[in-house]
Amino acid sequence: MQGTMKAARIHGFDRAPGAGGLVSLDEVPIPDVGEGEVLIRVLRAGLNHGDVHMREDAVTYSPDVTMLPDLPMTIGHDGMGEVVEVGPDVRAVRVGDRVVVVASLTCGHCKYCRSERQHLCSSKKTMGFVTKFGQSAPRLKRYTDGLWAEYCRVPATNVVRLEPEDNVDEFCKVSQINVGYRALKRAGLHSGETVLVNGASGITGIGTVLAALTMGAAHVIAVARNPVRLERVRAIDPRRISTVALGRGESITARIQELTHGQGAAVLAELAPGGIESTVECIKNLEPGGRVALISSNPETLSLPLRYLMIRSIEFTSVTGRFLVDVAELLELTRRGVIDTRPITTKYFKLEGINEALDFIEGRGENDPLWPMYAAD
Ligand SMILES: [Zn+2]
Repeated sequence: MQGTMKAARIHGFDRAPGAGGLVSLDEVPIPDVGEGEVLIRVLRAGLNHGDVHMREDAVTYSPDVTMLPDLPMTIGHDGMGEVVEVGPDVRAVRVGDRVVVVASLTCGHCKYCRSERQHLCSSKKTMGFVTKFGQSAPRLKRYTDGLWAEYCRVPATNVVRLEPEDNVDEFCKVSQINVGYRALKRAGLHSGETVLVNGASGITGIGTVLAALTMGAAHVIAVARNPVRLERVRAIDPRRISTVALGRGESITARIQELTHGQGAAVLAELAPGGIESTVECIKNLEPGGRVALISSNPETLSLPLRYLMIRSIEFTSVTGRFLVDVAELLELTRRGVIDTRPITTKYFKLEGINEALDFIEGRGENDPLWPMYAAD
């Protein structure tokens, strides 16, 4: 497709006083499409805390950021759109199809990609985002740009087709359930178990609660600081969700022991953005053989006696990024009514509102929607 488009691009990571405008809306060429690629007209594109940190300073954001992308780069690593052009060999989708984009790209043939551990692929890359582990394969440079733009080029392998009746506003939200869903899979959650979700009131936390319910957890114990948000989590399914409010004088241990009749929980999904005390206490309230799924990027040190972990046989696992194979499952579960995506609330912005949308994430109040998103007209 010929012509130009508008794209929200990041031009630098330093937030020097008065610099401002490191993310701006630019007029750029519409990407060309080759073999194995599709061009989409973006319909929805979300932003999260990672984008805010990247705008401020990607390097201090995480010491594990191993590769900074070539700049300027279009940001946005969650979204969906309508296919407007396909490469000559692409058969899986056609022009006019609406597709969800999975922005986590991997090599597809290493031992990790072949064993459902694609988050460990050393060639992985996330469109529109920094690389936090490994070095991206050079061929993936064609997919540096993300989704906060009018159009986006995507490998045909990384789109999942929607059915004509699927509601764009709801189905775009499965990306926020994706991480928790995979984390709980990696932790071996099975139906009937009790899941602790520490940091349950943020967008990924709510996505993890929805994943746990979908996967058959009998009981989800949501742990978070803000009681207003926590009550909203409980309201998703009051029969299966209990809450523990942090910092209100409530003992985490006493409450979890009461809720589990002294047994403890089977799985902990750990998402607390900071602080370590609640994490330690949650781990200590796992039953013997309990599993911990690390999702947050909390930089603090976990100090627990190895003997404690050994005797109780506590297992640790983790996940980063979005898993392609999970998206189709989550879309089907949504389509069949197993997942209700509505607790993930959204606030829409125009393309021009990119900085306003990033600021919204930092200034979000307890009654504000969770997820700022570009919505095309
Ligand atoms: Zn790989």
